Amino acid sequence: MLYKNILWGIFTLFLISLAFSVLFSDQPAPQTFTLNQLVSKINSGEVGKITVQENDLSIELKNGEKASAKKESETGLSQTLYNYGVKPAALDTVTLEIKDSSGLKFWASILIPTVVPLLIIVGIFWFISKQAKSGTNQAFSFGKSSVKLFGSFKDRITFKDVAGLKEAKQELEEVVDFLKNPKKFLEMGARIPRGLLLMGAPGTGKTLLARAIAGESGVPFFYISASEFVEMFVGVGASRTRDAFATAKRAAPSILFIDEIDAVGRERGAGVGGGHDEREQTLNQILTEMDGFDRDTKVIVIAATNRPDILDRALLRPGRFDRRVVLDLPDINDREAILKIHSKDKPLEKNIDLKKVAVRTPGFSGADLANLMNESAILAARNNKKIISQNDLFSSIEKVMLGPEKKSRVINPKEKQITAYHEAGHALLAASLKNSDPVHKISIIGRGRAGGYTMKLPLEEMHLKTKSQFLADLTVLMGGHVAEKEIFGEMSTGASSDIKEATKMARAIVTQYGMSEKMGAMTFGDTQELIFLGKEISTERDYSEKVAAKIDAEVRNFIDIATKTAEKLISSRKKVLGAIAKALLEKETLEQEDFNEIIRPFKLKQVVV
Ligand code: ADP
Ligand code: MG
Ligand code: ZN
Repeated sequence: MLYKNILWGIFTLFLISLAFSVLFSDQPAPQTFTLNQLVSKINSGEVGKITVQENDLSIELKNGEKASAKKESETGLSQTLYNYGVKPAALDTVTLEIKDSSGLKFWASILIPTVVPLLIIVGIFWFISKQAKSGTNQAFSFGKSSVKLFGSFKDRITFKDVAGLKEAKQELEEVVDFLKNPKKFLEMGARIPRGLLLMGAPGTGKTLLARAIAGESGVPFFYISASEFVEMFVGVGASRTRDAFATAKRAAPSILFIDEIDAVGRERGAGVGGGHDEREQTLNQILTEMDGFDRDTKVIVIAATNRPDILDRALLRPGRFDRRVVLDLPDINDREAILKIHSKDKPLEKNIDLKKVAVRTPGFSGADLANLMNESAILAARNNKKIISQNDLFSSIEKVMLGPEKKSRVINPKEKQITAYHEAGHALLAASLKNSDPVHKISIIGRGRAGGYTMKLPLEEMHLKTKSQFLADLTVLMGGHVAEKEIFGEMSTGASSDIKEATKMARAIVTQYGMSEKMGAMTFGDTQELIFLGKEISTERDYSEKVAAKIDAEVRNFIDIATKTAEKLISSRKKVLGAIAKALLEKETLEQEDFNEIIRPFKLKQVVV
């Protein structure tokens, strides 16, 4: 900011000096005469014309040359010349012209030196006072919310730009209908819904949907992020809340959208760290405001959160956010639709099949998919291509999932071999187990933190997972280091993340899903989550040491079963393992078809764990 001001200052000074030089520079005369010289030139008859402007004399000689001179300021020109001894007869041959001092020049010569510095000084004072004023304004406007009115957006978003999310759209359309025809509903004695809560994982399109309502509803739409309520100063949040609601009420019928409401709406009394008093006051204010709506107040509050589990129960009570809409992660058709929306302004090869991309991206959120399309465009551009190919899209899936490829990382041959057998182990088991998802791709090119990876994908989308599927997954996880042991006699650190994940999975099987015969269908431990990160920090034990030991034994048991199965399968199918590893060492990456080609001759029989 300061930097910019200085630049402006320099620029202004430059302009002023330019003006000076234009106004005050006459064409430089080739020579300047003293009055004595001028008089002698007149006497010798060389001078043709003299133009007088104030004290400046411009002289034209008869031979065409030009010169200038100055006269005394108090006396007239003729008087001056006589004083210097000009011959009257010689003077008669000279044309004399008297010019008024030019108005512009005259005034400029007076004004610029006096007024311009004055203007500069006044300008500086004005600027400083403006800064100070905005500073004080900031200090006094803490209590004002920065609630924004949507609608003047250039890139207007409508429901068409939001793929899938049918239920959410329907619900929102209904809400908008309430606002547009309140009479219809009020006459039936219905109460206009006060609040609607959008819940969904990050990136599922909550904010996007809100913007779409703003574009569709045709009523004033106010947007605020709940984190803006919370300031360092106590009491600000509450007054900002009051202000936001007042603004919305004044514009009724209107919609007030509070994004990320979990920032203030967290269960009261559950604060970790400081500052939760302020948050609670803000939450209380929101509750009060929503209660304060009359039966026919035509303001609907829409809020969005990705942590409905931590919201204060009072927020969810009827009369507040009594309508709740869950935004699920997109299914395969929605994924395709989202990809289509985000490929609109990108040049794609004609025969591109977005469905194939959708198949490979279970668990991706809308934001992930948008990111994927963007990455593929970047990839194509980096390779100096004019259009995006199917392969660009596929590579971007893995990039979004695992991080960028590390092609340049030098791997020594021994490490490459270990990685090849490790991944071959995973893949072989995935192909050997009936309850495992089929192998989609194997690679020994490192990505992100993974040295290599084996991608399995379900044939169709599943929402439930059975115990045998868990067991198959556990076994596939063990496949990596079991294969290493089988071939090289010992395991490497490459398996550490597999083992960690397997342990976590086994523990969840026992303590959360109640799938252990020994422990019974019971959950163990009350898992606490770190409130502001959504991560587990502690699991409160609600069972005895004895039970803990039993749980550990069961977890161990599941892992042992998986390891044994893995060992049995791998040692009996060593030839297949070798074939896969060899192909990997050769090609580094195997697609599903390549992989199936390799294992076909072996006619693997699929087993159940
Ligand atoms: P959040 O639910 O975390 O608020 P956003 O609404 O900010 O997620 O979504 C992030 C981005 O993901 C959007 O800007 C949009 O590009 C993309 N996106 C998410 N869901 C969809 C969808 N259903 N259709 C189209 N684009 C989507
Ligand atoms: Mg959002
Ligand atoms: Zn592994």
